[in-house]
Amino acid sequence: MTDSSRLRIAIQKSGRLSDDSIALLKAIGVKLQIRDRLLIAHSTNQPIDLLRVRDDDIPGLVMDGVVDLGFIGENELEEKMLERQAASKRSEFSTLRRLDYGGCRLSIAVPSEFNYQGIQSLNGMKVATTYPYLLERFFIEKGIDASAVMLTGSVEVAPRAGVADAICDLVSTGATLEANGLKEEEVIFTSKAVLIQRGGSLPPEKQALIDRLLPRIDGVMQAKESKYIMLHAPKAQLDDVKALLPGAENPTVLPLASCDKTVAIHVVSTETLFWETMEKLKALGCSSILVMPIEKMMG
Ligand code: ATP
Ligand code: MG
Repeated sequence: MTDSSRLRIAIQKSGRLSDDSIALLKAIGVKLQIRDRLLIAHSTNQPIDLLRVRDDDIPGLVMDGVVDLGFIGENELEEKMLERQAASKRSEFSTLRRLDYGGCRLSIAVPSEFNYQGIQSLNGMKVATTYPYLLERFFIEKGIDASAVMLTGSVEVAPRAGVADAICDLVSTGATLEANGLKEEEVIFTSKAVLIQRGGSLPPEKQALIDRLLPRIDGVMQAKESKYIMLHAPKAQLDDVKALLPGAENPTVLPLASCDKTVAIHVVSTETLFWETMEKLKALGCSSILVMPIEKMMG
């Protein structure tokens, strides 16, 4: 059973968002014991319970206030919001963070032999999709007279099965489209995973926990983008070396005990150091050039 004083978070049980969402929770210090078949997982070190559900259910659970937080793709969130608006249901929530995983786009694709000549080619078409509200909003915005055919799965086979003329589905690499003889023509929505919070105020201790976790999420995301760079550089070339280091306004420059012509430089960089730059540093006389991942950061 769940206890209402514990923070309730909905995550996708199994699918494209599950592993990254769990990894993020673990990275921010939430210890979890997940048993595959169970709907609920309790944190062993924080007052947090996870509700593991299909991603389709997450926006509703947050908007109905059944859970406090949810990890969800923006595509699913926006679709459910439009669906609830159409049914005059409340859709109160706030987006706390846009996350760095779950990236994809919702696109219209047509059979590769179709002679697509721009958006007007969609007029009169039947387009199969799992996202009818997003698709219809796109048709209205663009003044296209086409219809959405709702399918909950296997959208990509709809044209071959004679169910629709085109499809509107999620794409990341485009390999699935290609394998099904389809080509991507219009991107109608770009999406990433987000962390959302239910509307209304939460008990102070729950809100305080969220307020402590958010900077940790920022720290984890920042750390993933950053690198710690260390190298030895000839003192005489210091300015040229600094100019080559990406995003390094204020590197730490340390003397070396054994040699007064060389210094050690340490810098946290938000960009990666490319091989080409490392070669240029070497040519300037630098040595022991190390680029290391950062696990956690706090500003
Ligand atoms: P569920 O059983 O939970 O309903 P699902 O089949 O609807 O799962 P998944 O395929 O696991 O969902 O995708 C979940 C979310 O992952 C998508 O809604 C989207 O936000 C994101 N995503 C990222 N890349 C892709 C992709 N290439 N194809 C589909 N979804 C992707
Ligand atoms: Mg789903």
